[in-house]
Order: sequence, then C-alpha cells, then structure tokens
Amino acid sequence: MFEKILIANRGEIALRIQRACRELGIKTVAVHSEADAEAKYVKLADESVCIGPAASRDSYLNIPAIISAAEVTDAEAIHPGYGFLSENADFAERVERSGFVFIGPRPETIRLMGDKVSAKNAMKKAGVPCVPGFDGALPDSAGEIKRIAREIGYPVIIKAAGGGGGRGMRVVHTEAALQNAVSMTRSEAQAAFGNPMVYMERFLENPRHIEIQVLADAHRNAVHLGERDCSMQRRHQKIIEEAPATGLSRRLRDRIGDRCAEACRKIGYRGVGTFEFLYENGEFYFIEMNTRIQVEHPVTELVTGIDLVMEQIRVAAGEKLRFKQRDIEFRGHALECRINAEDPFKLTPSPGRITLYHPPGGPGIRVDSHIYHNYFVPPHYDSMIGKVIAFGDNRAQAIARMRIALSEMVVEGIKTNIPLHEDLLNDGAFLRGGTSIHYLEEKLASLRKG
Ligand code: ADP
Repeated sequence: MFEKILIANRGEIALRIQRACRELGIKTVAVHSEADAEAKYVKLADESVCIGPAASRDSYLNIPAIISAAEVTDAEAIHPGYGFLSENADFAERVERSGFVFIGPRPETIRLMGDKVSAKNAMKKAGVPCVPGFDGALPDSAGEIKRIAREIGYPVIIKAAGGGGGRGMRVVHTEAALQNAVSMTRSEAQAAFGNPMVYMERFLENPRHIEIQVLADAHRNAVHLGERDCSMQRRHQKIIEEAPATGLSRRLRDRIGDRCAEACRKIGYRGVGTFEFLYENGEFYFIEMNTRIQVEHPVTELVTGIDLVMEQIRVAAGEKLRFKQRDIEFRGHALECRINAEDPFKLTPSPGRITLYHPPGGPGIRVDSHIYHNYFVPPHYDSMIGKVIAFGDNRAQAIARMRIALSEMVVEGIKTNIPLHEDLLNDGAFLRGGTSIHYLEEKLASLRKG
C-alpha cells in the first residue's frame, strides 16, 4: 500500500479522499490555491503545499506545480478527485512519467473515453447498447449529412466529440434546420474544446439518466455496483441522485451491469468508473463513460456497504479486487441532495461567508462537506458546498429522513438550494419516482412563470 498520497483537488472531495487515506493509514498531502489556504482538509492533512493563486488555471489545473508538490513532499501517488484534471489524459501521463501512480485508469483509457466518438465505438464493440446514430464523425458533404439524419430519423442531436459539461450539443427537429445546426455546433466545439469533430445520434425525447458504477483492478477483474438514477437535473447538471432506480427490475440491472463489467474486462479498465446511459421504454442507451470517482458515489456506498474511494486506492496500488460479483449485495435505498451556494430558483451563484452552520444528523444521515461555521465560500469554483445523503430500508424512509435532515440544516450568510430540495421532496411526480431528465427544467420554468 502507498505511504503517502497527494490529493489534487479541493472542497468536499478533498476531505472525502483524505478520510479514506487516513482509514488506510496513508499520509496525505493537500495542495491548495491561495483562496483555500484556510480550508479544513488543508489543516487536517499531514502536509500542505500552496500551488498558486485562486484562479483554477493557475492552481488546480497547474500541472507542473502539482507534480513538483508531489516531488518535494515525496508522495507516491496522486488522487485527482473529480473535475479539474481528473479526466485529463495528458496529466495522467505526466504523473506516471514523473514516477508517480495516477489513481485512475491508464492514460490511453482516459483518452479513448474522452473522445465520445471513439468511446461509443469501443463500447459498441464491447457489447454495450448505444444511442442509435451514425458511428463516426460527420462528413463535410451537406448531402451526406442529410442522408444520415434521414436514416436515423428526426429529431436528431448533434454532439461535439470532445464535448463535456453539457456543452456542445444541439437538437434538430427538421431537415431545414440541419445544416446550420451542424455548422454552429462545429464552430462552438472548435472554440470550446479545440476539436471541431461532431457526430449525430437519435434525440431521445423523454429519457431518464441511469448510470452504472463499476470497479476494476489491474488484473482484468471487474464488477458492477448497481445503478444510480440521476434524472433530476438542471442545465444538464445533477442535483439529486438515488440508488436503486425506481421501477428497474433486478434482472434488467444485472443484465446492463454485467455488460459494463464485461466491457471493462475487454478494454482492460482499471479503477472506478461510471457508464452513463439514457433509459427509455425499458432500453438502455450508452452516452458516455466517466473515468473517475463521481460526486454521487456515496449513494452506491450506502446500498452496497463498499467504500469506493478506499477500493479505488487499493486497486491503484495493484491489489486484486477483494470480492466477486456474487459477493455484492444491495440493501435499502439511498438518496443524495447536492447542496449548492446559489439562489434556489434563479440558480445564480451565492458565494460569501457562512455566518451560521448547523449540519444535520441522526439515523441514516451522512454529510459530506468541507464547510464550517464562519467558512468563506470562494467565488472562484463550483458552487457545490456539500452533499447530504440519506439511507433507509426503502425509498419512502430515505425520503422521510432526508426531509428531516434538511429541515434541521442551517446555512446562513449565503443562499443555498435547500428550499428547492425541500420543494422536490414533496413533489408528487418525484415521490412517485421515475421522472425524466426534463422534469426539473420544466418545473423551474413553470415556477418562474407562476
Ligand atoms: P456531457 O459530457 O456534456 O455531460 P453527455 O453526452 O453526457 O454530455 O450528455 C449530457 C446530457 O445531454 C444528457 O444527460 C442528456 O440530458 C442530454 N443528451 C445527450 N445525448 C442525448 C440524446 N441522444 N437524446 C436526448 N438527450 C441527450
């Protein structure tokens, strides 16, 4: 096992990774920007290194600064968390070339999955069901593009091969709008991702977002840890996640889960990963793979009893998986609410000082957060300040516990989205379960009107 790990991230996930390291008896190095010097996990780390000014590109995205921090502190491995450099194949490569272990998949795997066209092709070959569409990048010829769209059938969606964060996508309903949509997505993709390649697939009208968690070691062993339903999204960003997904049978879960685990074995995947699917009319359609730990990993931890971050570190150290698929049991129901520093209905960010903080607790409640009384939420980063996760014997109990937790929770001095969560926890459609990815946007739009 490693003796010392450098955590190349901030916020709640930096604290989460630190806790896993401490439980494994591993020393930690926190790297931080000038804006995060006072953070709790920085003080709790065995060592800390300031890697630059507040702006992410000068600190959390500053590859040479992070690598030299690992060198001066004699760390053996680097954990990238999520966001920032976690899915940057060049970073993973430089970490390994500098003699450190990158806690994640091999750089080639990150590169393969980072290009959505190559990812989709690799997954299709490995037997994972994909959204119907054209398998390659779109050609230049307008006539060819029209023919492809007709074959797929309208509506279609044009997506950037290098896209991410919900950007670089355009839905097209008619042939008249096609050519313009392709050109606009191409130039946007070039500007935002430095890659003009776009592809086309069928636009699914009312899908749910259901994803499969996998865990694989470096010896071609892989298991799946079931699904998460993350359909409650605004601006393509998830705010509530849960496991299991309402109405998904055991048989369907195992079938899609086994396909994902098998795909991992075929491509030699290593580490934790998530296969994201759109789910409509009982069918799964792969959209992308995330090659890192995800924000919503705790719901899976609660229903499986497996600590994903500890297992991620173990397999990065070369250990074999400690369990087989048949050893994994699912129990109860877990629900996560992401707490953001933002106006709950207008969604505008609300950074600033937290003048009063009371975290919730009680049976089945887990709070993953780095904030504390008098903490200053910096304006430079993502607005998420923590996550409340509720576990129950069944969905109704998890929801009831979450309601109590949020009613106890006090965060003053900034605005948070807790009122939106409280509203959703009493929303008829959410309570029935199985809402589509468009549900929250539509609800927010009608709240704004009404
Ligand atoms: P990103 O990497 O930018 O998050 P994804 O491929 O994961 O891009 O897609 C983000 C979101 O866009 C999905 O969660 C879904 O809401 C929507 N989307 C993507 N592809 C389709 C599709 N074929 N049909 C309908 N919606 C889609």
